[in-house]
Amino acid sequence: MAEQDECKICGYSGVKSQIDLNGGRYTIACLRCGHYRIIDRAMRGDATTAVVRRKHLLSGLLRNVWETIQEEFLVTAEMMSSWEAILKAAPILIPADTDVAAKANAILRHIRRRSEFPGDVVILSEGFDPPVGFCRNEREFSFCLGYLVQQGFAEHLARRACRRGTIGLLRLAGPA
Ligand SMILES: [Zn+2]
Repeated sequence: MAEQDECKICGYSGVKSQIDLNGGRYTIACLRCGHYRIIDRAMRGDATTAVVRRKHLLSGLLRNVWETIQEEFLVTAEMMSSWEAILKAAPILIPADTDVAAKANAILRHIRRRSEFPGDVVILSEGFDPPVGFCRNEREFSFCLGYLVQQGFAEHLARRACRRGTIGLLRLAGPA
């Protein structure tokens, strides 16, 4: 089967994919979801509405698993039709979709991982980093960042446009 160039989970085009020798599963490197593996049947099948509505949470799970425990989460065919199957296999907690504090906390942990010291400057991309906070889109990501700033955990330094879309420079204010 030809290599895929669109992420099955977040829809980002331009991912790098590699299929294993048996043709059974792909290894995907997505700039939004991080690295993950997906069974061929899951790649070809359609997801049910319950899963489609939560694809941003699944994308967040993949990205956070890749970043925190450096594992390539395996997306099975069953997970395309059952959110419960995803929850059961998830090695980390997925925040409730309306839990702003939990999502902001996931972003804060990401900033901490990328900061060498409190006060270090971290660049976040509105195009690629919403999955870090399990956010549905740029607007929700921005909203959660605003929450962190308001709580005094981070300081917003600047926004500027670049090749990858608008980015924000954030400085971690709290102890790392
Ligand atoms: Zn993706």
